Amino acid sequence: MTAKGQITLVHLYPREMSIYGDLGNTRCLAARIRRHGYDCVVHDHHPGMPWPEQAHLLMGGGGQDSGQSRVQDDLEVNADRLRGLAADGVPMVMICGMYQMFGHAFITHDGVELPGLGILDVTTRGQSTRMIGGIVLDTDFGQVVGFENHSGATVLGAGQAPFGRVVVGHGNNGTDGTEGARTHNVIGSYLHGPILPANPAVADALIAAAAELATGRPFEPEPLDDSLAEQARTRQIARLRKPS
Ligand code: GLN
Repeated sequence: MTAKGQITLVHLYPREMSIYGDLGNTRCLAARIRRHGYDCVVHDHHPGMPWPEQAHLLMGGGGQDSGQSRVQDDLEVNADRLRGLAADGVPMVMICGMYQMFGHAFITHDGVELPGLGILDVTTRGQSTRMIGGIVLDTDFGQVVGFENHSGATVLGAGQAPFGRVVVGHGNNGTDGTEGARTHNVIGSYLHGPILPANPAVADALIAAAAELATGRPFEPEPLDDSLAEQARTRQIARLRKPS
């Protein structure tokens, strides 16, 4: 089957920002893009590297405070480019530490302020206790399940939509019932897991936007067998929602 087009997937800082298995999101996206009949080029972007000629889909994972500090300068170098890509509708999924860096700032528990890109209208402050555990959300993509581990408590700006509403778990800050943030095709979330393999509806929404940008044509999905992913998702949700 000739490819329906070629999608370039950019993984931001896989060495510094990919704890808790978030590399799995990149592998999931690449595999699903190819199973849908598109070619996929995966570009690992490391600090100081030139930006690729094409970028149709971006993934960024979680990291320790120290990892976030190590990528801060490169984020600043690429800030206008990333803001422009987001404004142009390029789909992005930013997890935990990278979610925080896509907001206005992440102020660590020690008081170190890491300025963010402001692509998402959120601000994060590190807490003395960490928010850790399984998490279930109600989202526009149905119920989504994952795992969270963060000190950062994130507050949404007045007009900022969340990614989802917490059913089980802490979410952005453990108090307002929101999780993550979503603006157009940019999703920020605290969900590790990695989030995408067990939540294929989210993965395919990102891929659909990327395919339309890459080809100039509507997304042409293949009927994929997601029975295993669906079992992984529903069983995790059932386990987390069971009264303890
Ligand atoms: N260092 C950030 C925090 O602790 C992000 C953690 C992460 O990416 N899991 O909140």
